[in-house]
Amino acid sequence: MIKNLKYFIRYVAVSILVISIILFVYLLNNFRSLFNTFNTNYDAGKIPMSASWKEQTASENSFVWVGHATILLNLNGENILIDPIFSERASPFSFIGPRRLIEPAIPINELPKISKVLISHNHYDHLDIPTLIELQNKNTDLLFFVPKGDKTLLQRNNLLNIKEFEWWQSTSINNKVFTFFPVKHWSARTFFDRNNSLWGGWKIQSSDYTVAHFGDTGYDSLFSMEREKFGNIDVAFIPIGSYAPREIEKDHHVNPEEAIKIAEDLNIDYSFGIHWGTFFLSKEPLFEPPELINKYQSLKTEKSFSTSKPGQLILLDSLEYQTILDN
Ligand SMILES: [Zn+2]
Ligand SMILES: [Zn+2]
Repeated sequence: MIKNLKYFIRYVAVSILVISIILFVYLLNNFRSLFNTFNTNYDAGKIPMSASWKEQTASENSFVWVGHATILLNLNGENILIDPIFSERASPFSFIGPRRLIEPAIPINELPKISKVLISHNHYDHLDIPTLIELQNKNTDLLFFVPKGDKTLLQRNNLLNIKEFEWWQSTSINNKVFTFFPVKHWSARTFFDRNNSLWGGWKIQSSDYTVAHFGDTGYDSLFSMEREKFGNIDVAFIPIGSYAPREIEKDHHVNPEEAIKIAEDLNIDYSFGIHWGTFFLSKEPLFEPPELINKYQSLKTEKSFSTSKPGQLILLDSLEYQTILDN
């Protein structure tokens, strides 16, 4: 009897060890980028912000970088929010996880009326359920455009009017065409749903401008090979942060030099760097992304790649005069 018990305990111990090793290898293989987000350096300082968003008018095509990947876009008098996060942390929990270094440049209560929310992928720094719930409460008939696979997540949280998109799927609404395009990234909300939903970026064509938001992306030949499919892009928001260390991040996050390469591949007139200075998700110094953009950008003069301050109102009609922005 005792001998059997000994065997049993040994059997259980070996099983636990084997399962632990398998789990460890699985997590290390698939979630290294996620674990790299648990870097925090809240003493790094704060990037300067602007309050010129208060001058936004419905009649002028404009955008404001609210922080991180959140863009408030006004096209033909319609306000669209992309990847809005107004929560304190980019995390499934309110008490732990990457915390904001700066407040959202526009308080959520002071946003203009929003008609559509576009989501690039389901990582917590891009798809923030508390923000989406608050936006729905404040905006009647709000539409949510999400990648294929994320609709049920929103539905579970009582969000309505959700449309899912496959890669390269378009929809035409209010004289604008919205297209969800692929990028090089991944998706996951838990350890068990990796890549169950799509990840990508958004292209919005209006009568005046074509604007694109690249969500999160690594560098990929996709951008040069599919140039015709991407078509003309006047203004783009391209991530320039979360790239260090390269051995962990290079498949998921471009560095500033690669961000410029995407803009070149797609011949984009005006690119703006986002996804930096807001949440600490990796190991590059806080101010390095715009410094490197300026360094590499100064070598190339035909197109513009710059950064704006969070909260700074950028008028699309005046872009020629605003391409060199102070950081
Ligand atoms: Zn992501
Ligand atoms: Zn991100």
